[in-house]
Amino acid sequence: MQGIDLSGSVALVTGASRGIGAVIARRLAEAGVKVGVNYLSSPESAEEVVSSIISAGGEALMVEGDVSQEEPAKSTVQQVVSNWGRIDILVNNAGINRDRLLLRMNTDDWDQVIQVDLRGAFLCTRFVMPHLIKQRSGRVVNISSVVGISGNPGQANYAAAKAGLIGFTKSVAREVASRNVTVNALAPGYITTGMVEKLSEAAREKILSRIPMGRFGVAEDVSEAVVFLCSKGASYITGEVLTIDGGMIA
Ligand code: NAP
Repeated sequence: MQGIDLSGSVALVTGASRGIGAVIARRLAEAGVKVGVNYLSSPESAEEVVSSIISAGGEALMVEGDVSQEEPAKSTVQQVVSNWGRIDILVNNAGINRDRLLLRMNTDDWDQVIQVDLRGAFLCTRFVMPHLIKQRSGRVVNISSVVGISGNPGQANYAAAKAGLIGFTKSVAREVASRNVTVNALAPGYITTGMVEKLSEAAREKILSRIPMGRFGVAEDVSEAVVFLCSKGASYITGEVLTIDGGMIA
């Protein structure tokens, strides 16, 4: 995948201050993409991502904004478009989890996860899409999760949001296919970032025993798939969900 050249393209990666989003932003920049690095509460980390891209010879812009709220989501997209005059790629990566078994899950746990993980992707896609349709080209990559396909005890809210994102992906893909805009979802399994690092040793062992490849994923496993889906070689792939899970739910 090292050879993919996306020079001239502009991307917005939501939740790019940390974890998988930060690696996606850096990887897109390495492929020549100018990247809007969206963040909410970690400005220092977002700044580090932007500086590392710029010192490697790329272009990046810090864009603060809560993607789950209409005005900040709109202004996040607008800042990227006014800085570079266009937008070609949207990676809906921002996500949170509030894990609890159903009987202990309160309405806020439910609402917050649905708001960020599902409504956030809707709002950003809604504000980016007119630009993609107008230029008759564009790529949207939604970061779902294998639990949106398989379900997971303790994650009814998160699994519902991630399953919703898959339905959203497939529907929007059908709406915009004739305009040469592709919309796909990635469904990572367990990737070593903040979310996985919070697990207990016992929980980690239990999960590892269910992964045929015998290891957790790394953020690069996801970022390489993003770059592929944004490449010319993927121009006939849309409405697809690609699992990246070491064979876990195969
Ligand atoms: P993470 O390390 O916890 O990072 C989450 C990112 O989302 C941060 O940059 C955070 O920004 C941002 N964010 C949260 N709420 C936001 C909001 N309202 N508006 C804008 N940005 C917001 O998470 P991760 O593990 O990298 O996960 C990234 C994505 O992959 C998520 O959608 C997650 O569900 C999905 N995923 C992860 C795994 C995994 O194993 N890690 C597996 C499957 C899917 P600030 O810090 O600036 O607030």
